[in-house]
Amino acid sequence: NQFIQFNLKPEIIEALDEIHFTKPTAVQRRVMPVINAGKSVIGQSQTGSGKTHAFLLPIFNKIVAEKDEVQAVITAPSRELAYQIYTAAEQIAKHSSVEIRIGRYVGGTDKHRQIEKLKQHQPQIIIGTPGRILDLIESKALKIYTAKILVVDEADMTLDMGFLKPVDQIASRLPEDLQMMVFSATIPDKLQPFLQKYMHNPVIEEV
Ligand code: AMP
Repeated sequence: NQFIQFNLKPEIIEALDEIHFTKPTAVQRRVMPVINAGKSVIGQSQTGSGKTHAFLLPIFNKIVAEKDEVQAVITAPSRELAYQIYTAAEQIAKHSSVEIRIGRYVGGTDKHRQIEKLKQHQPQIIIGTPGRILDLIESKALKIYTAKILVVDEADMTLDMGFLKPVDQIASRLPEDLQMMVFSATIPDKLQPFLQKYMHNPVIEEV
């Protein structure tokens, strides 16, 4: 399996073998080493390029399953997209010997149930739409300040849907030494102030 070159944990390689992912796509080859090196990255690539695994695989590789705290936050501009990322994440996490908790938070779902569950445990990875994630932070249910990784998937669509403000508010609650990954088909000018605010010397990969 060619994914071995990215120094992934054996349980992640096992998960990839299971779904017959043996060869990384172009965006995966370009972006994964940058994320592994701890750098922030802007990935300009389309849906269908394999970008979801390009960020999920290095993130799961970094997650410390024994640590009971939020370690990464991933935002997507639609419920459908958040569900797709969540499904991929669950599959990657499947063979971990210690269970990795992945929280999925999108609009239109039962917020009170989510708040009750969060009183027991914080998820280690958060995947959701910006509004609901921010809502749960403001309700003091989600405690994201421990996360050092933020992914903004489909940033151009996020901007178009008017979700850049909640994403900015989420980012503003994360530590200074944040590793941020932004994926977008295009990089509109209106996105620049946000990128400059939170990303320091990002690597830009156009695939
Ligand atoms: P995405 O661009 O992340 O939406 O991925 C597009 C599709 O390609 C999804 O169905 C993925 O499951 C699939 N995919 C991603 N990476 C690989 C890979 N290395 N080998 C085969 N299929 C892949």
